Amino acid sequence: MPKLSCPNCGMQQDKSWEDGGKGYMDDGDNYCCRGCAEDTGCTCAHHKGPVLNAD
Ligand SMILES: [Zn+2]
Ligand SMILES: [Zn+2]
Repeated sequence: MPKLSCPNCGMQQDKSWEDGGKGYMDDGDNYCCRGCAEDTGCTCAHHKGPVLNAD
């Protein structure tokens, strides 16, 4: 199975996606979460945007 990436935020599919990693299906597209599907903002825990300062 090819790796998917969220069409809204671009996050690669992994276990943090909704529904145990399956994501949220909307109109034939697979989003990481419902927030991306409805364009209300990604709610995935590990999605924090670009890392500017490595700690
Ligand atoms: Zn997303
Ligand atoms: Zn998300």
